[in-house]
Amino acid sequence: MSTLEDARTLDAADPLASVRDQFTLPEGVIYLDGNSLGALPTSTIAAQQDAVERQWGADLIRSWNSNDWIGAPQRIGAKIAPLIGAQPHEVIVTDSVSVNLFKLIVAATRLRPDRTHILTEPGNFPTDLYTADGVSDVLPNHQLHVEQAGDLIDAIGPETALIMLTHVHYKSGARHEMGRITDAAHEAGALVLWDLSHSVGAIPVDLNDCGADLAVGCGYKYLNGGPGAPAFLFVREDLQETIRSPLSGWMGHAAPFEFRDDYEPAPGISRFLCGTPPVLSLLALESGIDLFAEIEMEAIAAKSASLFDLFATRIEERCGAHGLELITPRDPDHRGSHISYRHPDGWPISQALIERGVIGDFRAPDILRFGLTPLYLRHEDIWQAVEILGEILDSGIWREPRFAEKAAVT
Ligand SMILES: *Cc1c(COP(=O)(O)O)cnc(C)c1O
Repeated sequence: MSTLEDARTLDAADPLASVRDQFTLPEGVIYLDGNSLGALPTSTIAAQQDAVERQWGADLIRSWNSNDWIGAPQRIGAKIAPLIGAQPHEVIVTDSVSVNLFKLIVAATRLRPDRTHILTEPGNFPTDLYTADGVSDVLPNHQLHVEQAGDLIDAIGPETALIMLTHVHYKSGARHEMGRITDAAHEAGALVLWDLSHSVGAIPVDLNDCGADLAVGCGYKYLNGGPGAPAFLFVREDLQETIRSPLSGWMGHAAPFEFRDDYEPAPGISRFLCGTPPVLSLLALESGIDLFAEIEMEAIAAKSASLFDLFATRIEERCGAHGLELITPRDPDHRGSHISYRHPDGWPISQALIERGVIGDFRAPDILRFGLTPLYLRHEDIWQAVEILGEILDSGIWREPRFAEKAAVT
């Protein structure tokens, strides 16, 4: 039986313990939803104030040059690169994950014009499925094929143009073997597009080592970029001069301020810009990413594994009788940094937890999901959260009618 004291002992030895002080967290809350909206880095508050008051208010339009607003997508992309095993010029921050998926799915299928299949798995994140389906509407030669994960590699064939997968599953937390799947795709002559939304900033990723072609990822989850933060996009260096974005906006032009009538894509990754970048949101994301500069992803992974072990062990010890079914793989190499349990009454239980200050989330139809963010969670928080969950399950308070009502965002 592990005790609160044991959890505090783990915190005392945690090399990342002091990083928590760089976040602004509300009193009385145990925040287990940083995989959906990362917490607020304290440095973001002053940086946003400077961005608004000085850069916008005083410097006005001069800031595009003097404060290098215009270079922000590339500059921040280069800061994300080491977190995902990419070269600085292979990553750019722009648009949302959904829009970047559209751009890269179209771009990839055009690099394989004689092939007809876009391959993915059932249960992939909805926006990934919907966007690929939308691409098949505008490019009727390329049809979306959704194959079971088990036979995914078998399903790769001479007709496959692109395999599109989410690296860490948003519900189960299960992780695909990026190297093995990328190799299999390349052997068959297909390209691979990885969605890193639940990987970046949570676990080590090495796109270059795996030979990955294309990737996208989210700025507002583990990167702590703020609500609706812009996303990032990766294109392998040697594809950059042949690949074309279907959203050929002026910011992706070779010379936007020459105002020419004809489109000429910018060299390199910059051609995936489309319209004017959202500067305030970009700068908020930059504050979040700057927190990673001094931290090794291996330290983050080790802390994640330790938080996970404590959570899973404590659930068994404290809540074992209550029918929570762990659906996340226990092996740290086969998962991301959240832990999920199936329970038929997941929704009201998640609401009762929030009332007690334990903020996780619910994913339909029956999944309780808890983000284990290594930068600002303590083992003590995990221990307390499971204790509160145990009390809620023991008492059955979640059966009260007020917890049944569904909200717009779960
Ligand atoms: C969060 C998430 C997204 C989000 O896409 P948006 O366009 O930013 O809304 C996409 N894919 C996955 C796998 C995600 O987890």
